[in-house]
Amino acid sequence: VTFLTGIETLWTLQGAVKKDGRHLTEDDLSPISDGAMVLHKDTIKWVGSRAETKTAAFRRRFKGLRARNLGAKTVLPGFIDCHTHLVFSGDRQSEFELRNRGYSYEEIAKNGGGILKTVTATRAATELELTQLAQPRADRAFRQGVTTLEVKSGYGLDFPTEEKILKVARKLKGPRIVTTFLGAHSVPAEFRNGPQPTKEYLKHVIDWLPRLKRWADRVDIYIDRGFFDLEDGRALFAAARNQGMSFTAHTDQLHHTGASAMAAHAGAVSVDHCIKVSDQDVKTLSTRPTTCVLLPTSDFYLRCEYPPARRLLEAGARVALATDFNPGTSPTQDLSLVGVLARLEMKMTWFEVIAALTINGAHALGFPESLGALEEHRRGDFVVLDCDARDLFYQVGHHPIREVWKDSACKYK
Ligand SMILES: [Zn+2]
Repeated sequence: VTFLTGIETLWTLQGAVKKDGRHLTEDDLSPISDGAMVLHKDTIKWVGSRAETKTAAFRRRFKGLRARNLGAKTVLPGFIDCHTHLVFSGDRQSEFELRNRGYSYEEIAKNGGGILKTVTATRAATELELTQLAQPRADRAFRQGVTTLEVKSGYGLDFPTEEKILKVARKLKGPRIVTTFLGAHSVPAEFRNGPQPTKEYLKHVIDWLPRLKRWADRVDIYIDRGFFDLEDGRALFAAARNQGMSFTAHTDQLHHTGASAMAAHAGAVSVDHCIKVSDQDVKTLSTRPTTCVLLPTSDFYLRCEYPPARRLLEAGARVALATDFNPGTSPTQDLSLVGVLARLEMKMTWFEVIAALTINGAHALGFPESLGALEEHRRGDFVVLDCDARDLFYQVGHHPIREVWKDSACKYK
């Protein structure tokens, strides 16, 4: 049992929990001044103020506990990065240069760039090589306070490589890992000459599901014009449901296809990107349990428009934020940049950003009961800062994290 005191402000987010992560105000971060916490095994046993620890009821419940003074200005729930493509080999910096020189995607793809370049490099890498590339990335996330990290496959596009990526992801150390099978990321080169390449390839993806279930917690698909369509999405979701797996989708990023609304109706845990959404889509998203995951660093690198965060928030949609870390369109793991762009370009408030990276990220991954807030019975995942919570997501590249606790133990200091 660990008994922590000396927390100037303990932001519990209990109000955000009660409001299902929607229509949040500053009060919903539910701060406790001069806070204290009791941790046991991997969970939180008690949260309150130091004054409450002097009461008879507390002393009866926790006899003889010795307090440890944390001496912290701020404690927040651990951050959740609920959308990354973290396991890959190779890089795409030459493509970044070409794009800046005015080459189009089609031209870059014709010259062997794009997702398929990463697929070639990732297929060629061994499991050990991929682990050696991915572990430092997971460490980088953890040092920024990311205690739960989602990792997608999708750079294999064949069974052995998709399995290899998911295995590597599952074994990463540091943050709690949620793995997602994204075989439906793109159509591999070997299928592109058939009469119906997308449909043909998707049949294989669905076929792999039962065998990949061991390594993957969820299923994902990239739906857009020229990629997979709504019908493909429905077929994959039905297959995932048959396997007892939850599912999510990349939706309405480049064009409006209606995929966000379709996936929300189908029961997706999250819909990610949500840039080209109509008023009707926004209405649908505000009434469904699905979380909207917005990925501003990807919009920044693509220099495309940002998602209509204010419209979504004001309608009552639940909004989460993530890095979308990948070598092509979002080659950054910097959570501070995600937050700054969300505030500057999407006009999210500081407290909406905090909720988007904690409790609403937990919703996006399907763990709203155990992660993303600080209260009894939840996992002891939190970050300790020597500055005010309002100092976060203001300076790009600033990560004032003193300690990262996961499962009630300090794992980074
Ligand atoms: Zn993505």
